[in-house]
Amino acid sequence: MTAAYLEKLNDRQREAVEHGIGLPDGVTGGPLLIIAGAGSGKTNTLAHRVGHLIVNGADPRRILLMTFSRRASSEMARRVQRICRQVFGDNAAVMTDAMAWAGTFHGIGARLLRMYSEQIGLNVDFTIHDREDSADLMNLVRHELGFSKTESRFPTKGTCLAIYSRVVNSESSINEVLKASYTYVLGWEEQLKQLFAGYVEAKQMQNVLDYDDLLLYWAQVMSDPELADDIGGRFDYVLVDEYQDTNRLQASILMGLKPGGRGLTVVGDDAQSIYSFRAATVRNILDFPNQFSPKPADVITLDRNYRSTQPILAAANGVIDLARERFTKNLWTDRESEQRPMLVTVKDETDQANYIVEQVLANREDGMTLKEQAVLFRASDHSSTLEVELTRRNIPFVKFGGLKFLDSAHVKDLLAILRFAQNPRDRVTGFRLLKLLPGVGSQTAAKILDTISADPEPLLSLAEIPRPPKTGEAWPALITLLSGLRNADSGWPGEVATARSWYEPHLDRIHEDANTRKADLLQLEQIAAGYLSRERFLTELTLDPPSATSDQAGVPLLDEDYLILSTIHSAKGQEWRSVFMLNVVDGCIPSDLGVGTTAEMEEERRLLYVGMTRARDNLSLITPQRFFTHGQNAQGDRHVYASRTRFIPVTLLQYFEVTSWPKVSAAASERSARQIRIDVGARMRSMWK
Ligand code: ATP
Ligand code: MG
Repeated sequence: MTAAYLEKLNDRQREAVEHGIGLPDGVTGGPLLIIAGAGSGKTNTLAHRVGHLIVNGADPRRILLMTFSRRASSEMARRVQRICRQVFGDNAAVMTDAMAWAGTFHGIGARLLRMYSEQIGLNVDFTIHDREDSADLMNLVRHELGFSKTESRFPTKGTCLAIYSRVVNSESSINEVLKASYTYVLGWEEQLKQLFAGYVEAKQMQNVLDYDDLLLYWAQVMSDPELADDIGGRFDYVLVDEYQDTNRLQASILMGLKPGGRGLTVVGDDAQSIYSFRAATVRNILDFPNQFSPKPADVITLDRNYRSTQPILAAANGVIDLARERFTKNLWTDRESEQRPMLVTVKDETDQANYIVEQVLANREDGMTLKEQAVLFRASDHSSTLEVELTRRNIPFVKFGGLKFLDSAHVKDLLAILRFAQNPRDRVTGFRLLKLLPGVGSQTAAKILDTISADPEPLLSLAEIPRPPKTGEAWPALITLLSGLRNADSGWPGEVATARSWYEPHLDRIHEDANTRKADLLQLEQIAAGYLSRERFLTELTLDPPSATSDQAGVPLLDEDYLILSTIHSAKGQEWRSVFMLNVVDGCIPSDLGVGTTAEMEEERRLLYVGMTRARDNLSLITPQRFFTHGQNAQGDRHVYASRTRFIPVTLLQYFEVTSWPKVSAAASERSARQIRIDVGARMRSMWK
């Protein structure tokens, strides 16, 4: 008898799910690649494979499952649980809860590094810097080396960090990276080398790791055969979704974990590779089969799309057919529909917002919830006009991608207290915290941090230094707070409340809108309650910050139903019944930034494809004739006239229902234009009478 959950799969999906299962005891199947287009059930197949492994006796604690975001990993865990429940009934929860190793590459890396910290000479209390902290630290080093003063044209902290990150993640030299992507920085190689060396040293001294370190250190660990054996030996199965968006470090980690490929499954779609700006390389997935010898990995392709209607799929296929290079084949579907995707011209962004609101509400009238609808855009600031309109019309929405809850100053301040208690050597965090006190500026903060960092117990040393001038009662209060946190007086998550009550008077002093900010802090406290310890909370929040507060289970949303707003990048892997795409015009997609090389242009094309393939039933691409750009040029902010994206040339218009909105006034304006022509003609004739 076959398990009921297998019967829903098509033959090829089933082959992938069952691959290498049922071999004699102790034998694990060889490496497997599932490569196929959007909506062909790759993620679903991977979830079934994990479920099937567990049903067939695999130990869930020995399965490593890596996805692109934490959201994707909890979604995957839910699917696995559903499958297991069909076999084990209510005991399934116990089985799947044991899937302790499901997460993102960075999250899993952080956990392993902490476990192996002693063997690799890391202090177990290391804290993790997010991009902003990393840029700040880069800036400190840049100042110390004097590059910011003497060299006025020296690249900014953000650019320096981007170059550093690219060098690390692509395993290339500074020179190669500059030549490929930062030609205007060529000539600064020597200084950059010094800067990066200083940056690395500062991180080590301060016991902090940045995002890239999590992969870099992990890859380093895997190059030691004994440690690699030990870590690889923890897992019988290693499975990775969205493999097309991994970089070379990630590939080398995988090969280190499973050098022969036993129990290794990777899944992806080269046509959806959209993260090259983070050094992801599509070569990882294309070259995967031949990494193994004597027998290459088995490859399974899927050709049926279960997500979109036939007209939507035809349009998406049309777009990606024009790509220069592609491995995955076009898909087919039996989801017939009369409705082609819409290509809607509107006057400007205001009309674009009005059009969307009208359509979203009409869909809701027809029984489609707001959550089943999404608005996607290339860049986070493209949705601001729409956000204003949604707020005005009282339509709840949640936005993914772009500015995060955790990026706001007050949330970072509160986190800085906890982080400093965790790792008082972290200078960027120390600066942030000390500068909250009245009378403490950069110089005083630097002096304090210099003094205490020499001590093996910096927090004890802090308690002994003389009270800095003008800090008043705030100073002893800080000392009491930090020593309480150090001794874990309030326990977890109680210490978040302790930190908040210390911080609130400072918040009142520093910010005018303190009350709205306080609500965020309360929310942070609720989020913290969902984690087991301070360390887990800080690590996971930094690695995969909630892009919206609703990401966090247990945080009630004001409204149960809400519209989804998302960047295309953050929409990866997801689907909605109705999808609207904003600003499908040249300059937005491809974005101005992307118009550089052919490779960048091709990535922009794939982004459009990723966006379009999120839609199940309805898809509307909107092209405003005028849109507002934020000035990256001499003219500053301005309105520009736009034309339809170059990725939808005239030959592809057959796949769309081309229309303009609002319909009535477009017709009216056409009529009035004709009217004027007639009037002028009549007048001309009458002149000669
Ligand atoms: P993407 O490339 O966007 O990540 P994907 O290939 O991972 O897509 P899934 O998200 O796994 O595709 O599946 C797309 C949709 O198709 C989901 O709604 C899923 O439930 C459905 N689906 C997948 N396989 C089947 C099947 N055999 N029968 C019915 N529905 C299926
Ligand atoms: Mg998927």
